[in-house]
Amino acid sequence: MNQTPRVSSYLVVVLFGLACALPDQSAVESGSHTWTLTESAQEHVTEPALEAQIAMALDAAAEAGTDPSISKYHVRAATVVQREGHDHAVVGGNSEWYGYPEAIHGETSLMNHAINLVGPEAAREDVAFLAFYTDRTCGTGGSCGDCRDYLMTTTRWEDLLMVCGSGADNSVHVNRFAKWVVPESDFPEVTPEATGLPGARLDALVEAALEARAGGVSLFTTADQHLGVSALSTEGKIYRAAGADDAAFHYRYPIGAVLQQAAAHRDYFVEAVVVATAPGHTPRVSYRDRQYGYESSSFNGKRGHQPIKLIVLEQDGDDTPIRYRMTTFEDALPGAFSTASFMPEAVDRFLEQRAR
Ligand SMILES: [Zn+2]
Repeated sequence: MNQTPRVSSYLVVVLFGLACALPDQSAVESGSHTWTLTESAQEHVTEPALEAQIAMALDAAAEAGTDPSISKYHVRAATVVQREGHDHAVVGGNSEWYGYPEAIHGETSLMNHAINLVGPEAAREDVAFLAFYTDRTCGTGGSCGDCRDYLMTTTRWEDLLMVCGSGADNSVHVNRFAKWVVPESDFPEVTPEATGLPGARLDALVEAALEARAGGVSLFTTADQHLGVSALSTEGKIYRAAGADDAAFHYRYPIGAVLQQAAAHRDYFVEAVVVATAPGHTPRVSYRDRQYGYESSSFNGKRGHQPIKLIVLEQDGDDTPIRYRMTTFEDALPGAFSTASFMPEAVDRFLEQRAR
């Protein structure tokens, strides 16, 4: 039980040879665990070498230090990279609360450590999976939006596997990271009428988003990344915001900003969010912003309102017709979590006290 990651990694190297010869390759004894791939996990993990690396990572993750002072949920993560020709386990973990409800997440912590160890190119090449250890049962959800953004930038995410090992029964569950990715080009194209918004309302939202885009702060953000956003609340009010960057790289995300403005007016229920970017581009809606939208849309669900409509605008040139793509934050961020899902009563009480 108290094997250090280093000791258990040696064990896995020894056991790797054995695993190749084992008739049942779905179980690898490693450290104090005999990790067993579920049937569906075996479809993703067919190479004994990968299975051994996963076992090595899960053993290392089990020992990862975390500080989940808010959520009380330990995110113990690990992966395996090559160092001097050998498998090397890297760990990461969540650390929460720095005076505000902010956190460094297990996924970002882990990839940062992998980059620290072998550099960004080797980390991108080597990291085939992220493994999470839990002493409970494995959940089915994906990472938060911000972690999805970071993993899509630092890994070969199209091939990345997300692994969960349960210390409760030693079962290993595997998902493709890509199942939680929805490109903007997949948001269905709709006519203005199909948005369900009255023409004048939609026009006002488009105008507000385009005007907002002319502002904001984009000293580091590229032109196609810089977004203007507008939001229509169920109270009939329109809010606007644009992205803002700064020297500490604490980007202020535009959808988060527009929803925060609505909340500052106690206008918690939003009907539609419209997103504009430079002509010739489809707006890239970051997964972090999708997370903000998802959280806000979960408030709608509490009051029986429809999910927020997420509408992105496409335009070939400044004076050419606008095309619309529409989805929901629920569809744009599959496998998401919100406060409404793990603290439903607290959200009920909050909305009762604060919402108009
Ligand atoms: Zn995260």
